[in-house]
Amino acid sequence: MTDLTDELLRKRHRLMGRFSPLFYEEPIVAVKGEGCYLWDADGRQYLDAYNNVPHVGHCHSHVVDAITRQASTLNVHTRYLNPVVLDYSERLLTKFDDSLESVIYACSGSEANEAAVRMARHYTGKQGVIVTDLAYHGNTEAIAEMGTEFMPESRHSQRVATFTTPDRYRAPSGLVGDALAAYFLETVDAAIAKLQDSGAGVAALLVCPGFANEGIPEAPPAFLSKAAARVREAGGLIIADEVQFGFGRSATHWFSHQKFGVIPDIVTLGKPMGNGHPISAVLASRTLVENFGEWGMYFNTFAGNPVSCAAANAVLDVLETEQLLPRAERNSKIVFDALKAMQSRYDCFGDVREGGLFFAVDLVDDPVEKTPATALANKVVNQMRQRGVLISRIGPNDNVLKIRPPLAFDSEHADQLLTTLESVMEDVTGG
Ligand code: PMP
Repeated sequence: MTDLTDELLRKRHRLMGRFSPLFYEEPIVAVKGEGCYLWDADGRQYLDAYNNVPHVGHCHSHVVDAITRQASTLNVHTRYLNPVVLDYSERLLTKFDDSLESVIYACSGSEANEAAVRMARHYTGKQGVIVTDLAYHGNTEAIAEMGTEFMPESRHSQRVATFTTPDRYRAPSGLVGDALAAYFLETVDAAIAKLQDSGAGVAALLVCPGFANEGIPEAPPAFLSKAAARVREAGGLIIADEVQFGFGRSATHWFSHQKFGVIPDIVTLGKPMGNGHPISAVLASRTLVENFGEWGMYFNTFAGNPVSCAAANAVLDVLETEQLLPRAERNSKIVFDALKAMQSRYDCFGDVREGGLFFAVDLVDDPVEKTPATALANKVVNQMRQRGVLISRIGPNDNVLKIRPPLAFDSEHADQLLTTLESVMEDVTGG
């Protein structure tokens, strides 16, 4: 560890507390970003194969220019009429089904989910929300209790019920096809029954369609639409949390619910939306939005301000002009094929999954028992960092490699990622 790293680390612990999360055994002092690269204080370059917020690339000049121009013209809160937010809203809504016709803005994914859940609770008159057993949807009091990451299930209130993450790889052995689908759907039925029995009733299913925080498991075919149909039958609304998968992460579609053929009642957006500028949104029918607004006026000082909307509009420009979705689709295939090929050589690659430009490798100590290889995953992630490539890990056992680069990622970056991973795997497995 360099003297500067050590000094900043001690300062951070003193000023921000020891639990403010950081990546890597030797944290990176990041001082500059451009495209898919970050540089540290010593001038060392890192390939960023992890960050989904700088979606169109770190410090993309078109986004930076749009922010600068708008910030030097006008920035106010949103109680004035201004065309920037309206022009952006009109453009954003064209990417969705016609039933999603209105939008309200917030500043973070957590806030967007909070507003979406309040909207669903108010509209349905019910309180219960269904999420996966490995969900994370944000950090507000109400949303944190819908996730296991920061709030153990034992502390969930009567208003939350979970279903089993539809992960084929970690399902009970022997279950395949219709039986496997039925196994997961029964857990959705059980969650509905739990909420009905407790008197909370079903307000919504809150779900990330690509199951980002659950480790992008491959669900049985049509799982999401079948689960959604059950929740709707019980009177609940469907909230698609597109905070991670929105704006082309799935590569084939602008928003991942479109890939799974589900039209949600409410969609939430965040993270990549402003390429790092804090902006998020809740989309729904006009009826839902007006019903919510009439009941409990929603105001959020910074949300949808002209600078945020200029940033978000510039992100759409870049996604379209640089054709980043088709690029993501090409590179997704390159990386996924290579990871699959590595799986045949490394027994510890228990399962390899892709969700567009998003990859997960479930590392195991024993491919038959599927024992999570937590220590190995830690070693791989830290060795990758030492060799200049940034990835992370996820899952209840922190054993799943998580590779999720900016959409600016291209074939030369894929080469660097794969060559480095190959060399790390050779060293850590002695292969
Ligand atoms: N939804 C999902 C799927 C997320 O992954 C996250 C953040 N990891 C959030 C919501 C919360 O977003 P934020 O951190 O911007 O509040």
